[in-house]
Amino acid sequence: ANERESMYLVSEYASTYFQNILWESELGKAIGLSYFKERGFTEETIKKFGLGYCLDQWDGFTTAALDQGYKLEYLEKTGLTIVKEDTNNPNNPKKFDRFKGRVMFPIHSLSGRVLGFGGRILTNDKKAAKYLNSPESDIYHKSKVLYGIYHAKQAIAKEDNCFLVEGYTDVIQFYQRGIHNVVSSSGTALTPEQIRLINRLTKNVTVLFDGDAAGLRASLRGVDLILEQGMNVRICTFPEGEDPDSFAKNNELDEVEQFLKDNSKDFIRFKASLLVKEALDDPIKRADTVRDIVNSISKIPDRIKKEIYVQECAQIMNISESVLFSTLAQIGKKDQ
Ligand code: ATP
Ligand code: MN
Ligand code: MN
Ligand code: MN
Repeated sequence: ANERESMYLVSEYASTYFQNILWESELGKAIGLSYFKERGFTEETIKKFGLGYCLDQWDGFTTAALDQGYKLEYLEKTGLTIVKEDTNNPNNPKKFDRFKGRVMFPIHSLSGRVLGFGGRILTNDKKAAKYLNSPESDIYHKSKVLYGIYHAKQAIAKEDNCFLVEGYTDVIQFYQRGIHNVVSSSGTALTPEQIRLINRLTKNVTVLFDGDAAGLRASLRGVDLILEQGMNVRICTFPEGEDPDSFAKNNELDEVEQFLKDNSKDFIRFKASLLVKEALDDPIKRADTVRDIVNSISKIPDRIKKEIYVQECAQIMNISESVLFSTLAQIGKKDQ
């Protein structure tokens, strides 16, 4: 427990340090702060989310932390510092700032403690990862964290709905636009633990997908996990090339709200329509899509809802209810 506390403390220090660099240093202001401002974030928003900057130096942060008395052990365990053996100098290993040259997004727990960071590169270097995250650690369990949950929790309960988006900047831009009930799994596949975090606050989730279609089919699988927890799921996709961040940046609150209202569809209906379109003239593909949609329906715990969805999907997919029901029964047997 003491060890974890030390990891929390060094993470808190790092968050403060990266913010100080962003607001106080010439390079931080010229590079980091201008980057966030160009993305349309206000000073208030940048402060609210604790955004920062890690200078493009090998070990500026690590040296400062060690000077302040933080132990290398915890800098390494939180992943803030990468430690490499130096064969010429065995008593003094080389130390590097993991997030060198990146703008920083601290990731908070439900109660607001800093657990880890996401860092975004500022160049268009296609070889380097656009986002780099803290490694899994004793305080940062990726599968149990949702980015934005600390700032969103009250609004999720109050609005009785949670918007689930793909990235950090989607959360921040939505929040700034005035939609506060928004969280992100930040690039990792959705997990049951993450959904449980939401489930304690509301039974209603609206999943917002980037308009890049690439990952849509794959991402739909993760949504079944939300159904499994008995939650109501709606889906909204954005126009080609847009994501919630760009859309909220370029539109007023009432326009964003209208868009969400007009484009959110019940997940099962959405999926059934999508699959039908994809498999229009191909009988074999159609058989697969029927199994696929019935598989999603089978995840819904409530029997009445299941039955209603079977009726709906039979219509959308133009197939008899009895075939869907027998497929559902088969899947039910396999699962036992
Ligand atoms: P931006 O608007 O800053 O370019 P984004 O949030 O729109 O970023 P996407 O490409 O849509 O980025 O990815 C969504 C999320 O997936 C990101 O916010 C990030 O959490 C994660 N992600 C994206 N690229 C990477 C990567 N190369 N490595 C790790 N995580 C990534
Ligand atoms: Mn994307
Ligand atoms: Mn995106
Ligand atoms: Mn984006």
